[in-house]
Amino acid sequence: MQKKQNKLDVENALGKTPRQAIESLRKWAVNNTGCAVQDGWPCGTCFCSLLSDMGVKENKQHNRPIDRVNEVWRAVLQIRGD
Ligand SMILES: [Zn+2]
Repeated sequence: MQKKQNKLDVENALGKTPRQAIESLRKWAVNNTGCAVQDGWPCGTCFCSLLSDMGVKENKQHNRPIDRVNEVWRAVLQIRGD
């Protein structure tokens, strides 16, 4: 398994077409989870585990829980077209 590189290569993503940027996101996610079981993308369990490893947590604001991990995962699902 490759060493985890938690930083997304934002500078490299600039200047790319949306399709190329999505592919960069997919490769980054697969390289950092080792999982590509969903049409070449990581499953939710592996992706959310990666987010937790990166320090993304459920935060509480005004006593309302805000699940950042779920928010990011849902955004990724939208980006990948699910
Ligand atoms: Zn998985």
